Amino acid sequence: MPTKRDWFGLIASSILYYLTARAGMTLFSFQPANITLIWLPSGIGLVMVLTWGLKAVPFVVLPDFLANFPGLLEGRPWSSAVFHTSISTIADTLAPLLATQLMGRFMKEGVQDAKDLIWFLLYGCAIPVGLSSTLLSLNLLTGHYIESAAVFDFIKMLFFADCLGILLVYQIYIGWPDAKSLVWRPYQTLVGVGILLAFLLMAGVSTKQWWTYYLILPALVIAAFEINLFYIATLSSLSMLAMILTTAHGLGPFIADDPQEANAEMMAYVISAVLTIFGLSLQNSQLHRTENDKRKAEQEAQHDPMTEILNRRAFMPLLQQSYEHAQAHGSTYSVAILDIDDFKSINDRYGHAAGDMVIKHMASTIQKYCPEQGYAARIGGEEFAILLPNTHAIEAYQRMEQIRIDFMDTLTPCEDGQLVAATVSIGIACYQGQSGANQVLGDADAALYRAKGSGRNQVLCSP
Ligand code: GH3
Ligand code: MG
Ligand code: MG
Repeated sequence: MPTKRDWFGLIASSILYYLTARAGMTLFSFQPANITLIWLPSGIGLVMVLTWGLKAVPFVVLPDFLANFPGLLEGRPWSSAVFHTSISTIADTLAPLLATQLMGRFMKEGVQDAKDLIWFLLYGCAIPVGLSSTLLSLNLLTGHYIESAAVFDFIKMLFFADCLGILLVYQIYIGWPDAKSLVWRPYQTLVGVGILLAFLLMAGVSTKQWWTYYLILPALVIAAFEINLFYIATLSSLSMLAMILTTAHGLGPFIADDPQEANAEMMAYVISAVLTIFGLSLQNSQLHRTENDKRKAEQEAQHDPMTEILNRRAFMPLLQQSYEHAQAHGSTYSVAILDIDDFKSINDRYGHAAGDMVIKHMASTIQKYCPEQGYAARIGGEEFAILLPNTHAIEAYQRMEQIRIDFMDTLTPCEDGQLVAATVSIGIACYQGQSGANQVLGDADAALYRAKGSGRNQVLCSP
């Protein structure tokens, strides 16, 4: 059963389908030859079927029939108009159904990056639209709406207008998941590019210097590196619609004596522009995804998933760096090792999950007192380490005392509502010309060992 949201989406798309169909026949029609330059309903129908499957069919059929009927009724008996409109509507509905089937079969992942574009052009556009255009034209021929000599031109016109409609709508649909993550660069870029495109279009219209139209493509290409797919697709589609609108009104750079030729020139330009931007934008999205994945993998490799602080692997090189820095500059640093007391018995008494909560509590207490230039890491099960650059033993001792006391005084709330008390023992070592980074760490460990031996819940300094 469709949800309330689905109903809303279906009805809104259906209305949009009807309105864009009417616009295709009037606003976007090249007069007096009556050449439809773009047929957005083909794209809307495809997105509807991709989103809602067969449920979308009545919502495509109804507006399609209503939009086509008046044109096919002119001077005809009702029965004939109803018959030919029905055939048209069947052809228009078959195209997105077939495209969805073909795409589901041959490109399960949909359009992910630029190399999928060629398959989309084939399965999403050329095959289904080629069939529907042929069917539509033959329907009009048998109904004597068009002459047999015009059939080929008619198929061509429908084919390009439908493909263009699919491209413009589908690229926005593909970008939709990106819509919320507004832009890679700040918002201003988007607004700036929008204003530039509007300016180029308006400059062309007001001065009749149509070369400004040719600057739209490079402007979009540059913007495609800055703005994510959804917004670039929207800007690209709107710019192309504006160009098509200009052509439909007998203006713009694509005007020739033969209207078919003007149409072909415009189509060639618009389709190549849209494909360039779409491909580039897909490639950039892919690049961004890869970079994000890499960053995430690096982040994960350096952090402990449970406490989200550094792990041993990330911590050890930091110790080495501090050692080398202190040696070279005659500075100092302190290292502390922290080990929760009698942790085995906490696990035994309260369970492993409660033990985990205590570990997390320890990590957050450490972070609370770790200075900004310091590093905290989980280096073992319930064992932690802290590196304090430019810190002497006394200051390190004071900080560790704060951690020990806070941890002792704050009970850990566990999932089952129990409050668990725990303490921690801490060993500190300060760099004083030891023979290696591991030596400093070893000194801290020895201090921890002594702290454990002398009753736990205390901080001891080496030596
Ligand atoms: P001591 O005061 O001497 O440190 O005693 P202890 O019981 O803490 O001794 P030890 O350090 O040997 O025990 C560590 C225990 O921590 C053993 C292991 O089962 C448990 N442990 C290790 N990693 C985890 C973890 O991620 N979660 C939980 N719940 N327990 C862990
Ligand atoms: Mg322990
Ligand atoms: Mg331990």
